[in-house]
Amino acid sequence: MKLIEGKPIAEAVYAECLTSFEELRAAGHLPGLAVVLVGDDPASRAYVGSKERKCQELGMHSVKIELPEDTPQDRLHEVIAGLNADDAIHGILVQLPLPGHLDEDAVILRIDPAKDVDGLHPVNLGKLAMDDSTGFAPCTPSGCQRMLIESGIETSGANVVIVGRSLLVGKSLALLMMGKGEGGNSTVTVAHSQTKDLAALTREADILVAAIGIPHFIGPEHIKDGAVVIDVGINRIEDTSAPKGSRLVGDVDFEAVKCKCEAITPVPGGVGRMTIAMLMANTIRACRHRAGI
Ligand code: NAD
Repeated sequence: MKLIEGKPIAEAVYAECLTSFEELRAAGHLPGLAVVLVGDDPASRAYVGSKERKCQELGMHSVKIELPEDTPQDRLHEVIAGLNADDAIHGILVQLPLPGHLDEDAVILRIDPAKDVDGLHPVNLGKLAMDDSTGFAPCTPSGCQRMLIESGIETSGANVVIVGRSLLVGKSLALLMMGKGEGGNSTVTVAHSQTKDLAALTREADILVAAIGIPHFIGPEHIKDGAVVIDVGINRIEDTSAPKGSRLVGDVDFEAVKCKCEAITPVPGGVGRMTIAMLMANTIRACRHRAGI
């Protein structure tokens, strides 16, 4: 069994970012990312903190906008309009999920597609569906695909089963993997909560992707011998033996399935590492687009 770790692959992405960054800086451009956080969700706060730290490490311009939990929709739209108009900002990310009273789709629609580095604006999702590489693909699915490419896993003609149909992960990854680009050309099936006999379907998968949000949901009965397994899930479970009283686990029961797999990603240390790396890569690409480089 080969362990597909996120760290070395993310480092390779950062190395490319730095090369591109130097080229931009030499031409007088500094990539800038704005992250908007509404409310006080601790997990969202932690994600935003990691994004900010990574921007600083790379030497990028970074802006964090924190808004209170009860921010009205109009106020958030004003903030987005300000960032759209700000020439120092090339990428805008609104940390999801937003508090329940806010309409996420309406907010995403306000982001200039050229700054939508999270790849969730309909223009970018349309480009993804059209195999138009000038758009931005969502970061977590792009990270999964990059892991497969860098690990030398053949995706062309492979049977890929993705469990989970969210726009953020499952549905977008399906578009990427059935696309004609590198790491694509797969035969993709998307399973979800209404799928019948899930295990029979997933046992057909050469590459199985779990993006469900239920700890240890995927067990040995779901996996064909020799399959490649990508675990997108990040779930916090109670563990009295852990220093914090809890720990992170994936959607896959790693210990129970690892001996059946040709390759598998761990949690933590797998896909999670890639999401921020792809966000930085998208932001630098957005800056290049604007600079015409
Ligand atoms: P979501 O809740 O939006 O979607 C979950 C999907 O799982 C849904 O499409 C649903 O139909 C499917 N599902 C639920 N129960 C099922 C069942 N019994 N059988 C089959 N399918 C079922 O979640 P999401 O935003 O797509 O995230 C999924 C997981 O990935 C979560 O654990 C999340 O924390 C994690 N995640 C990780 C990253 C990362 O950077 N690694 C990024 C985004 C999400």
